[in-house]
Amino acid sequence: MEKLCSFCRNSEILCQSCKKKLDEGKLTQMEVDVAHALNPYEAVKIVDAGKILIMVKPVDARIIIGKGGSGVKKLEEKLGRRVKIVEQSNDRKTLAEDVLRLRVIGVNVLYDKGEKLRIRVSGERRASNVDIEILAKLYGKDVNVVYE
Ligand SMILES: [Zn+2]
Repeated sequence: MEKLCSFCRNSEILCQSCKKKLDEGKLTQMEVDVAHALNPYEAVKIVDAGKILIMVKPVDARIIIGKGGSGVKKLEEKLGRRVKIVEQSNDRKTLAEDVLRLRVIGVNVLYDKGEKLRIRVSGERRASNVDIEILAKLYGKDVNVVYE
């Protein structure tokens, strides 16, 4: 993911280099807005699908989320969108549980015209389509949720 430079994270007026990234579509206006709203913290990854999912470093997550989610509310007010914060994780199961807020039994890789991920979920509750789409964008693969 392309990022705003440290100068531009603190400035509403972008430097030439960051403006060029925005003009060329390497950065979106939403990503610029998130970088400003999140400052001094940085997003590891941003996914826009129904709501804005912001992946942050585990060490920053608690501060960004704030007491009782107050930090998330502030971000939502600044961005005018629903926001979800997740901790960066290389573990697919942990990430799936964090995004879906459901108990995940396992994540299997399926090979069918490319790699797909099957996420096995336990319990009665169903994942929302928005959350499934966010997960697919985070993994960069098709996602199929099955309930066991
Ligand atoms: Zn810049």
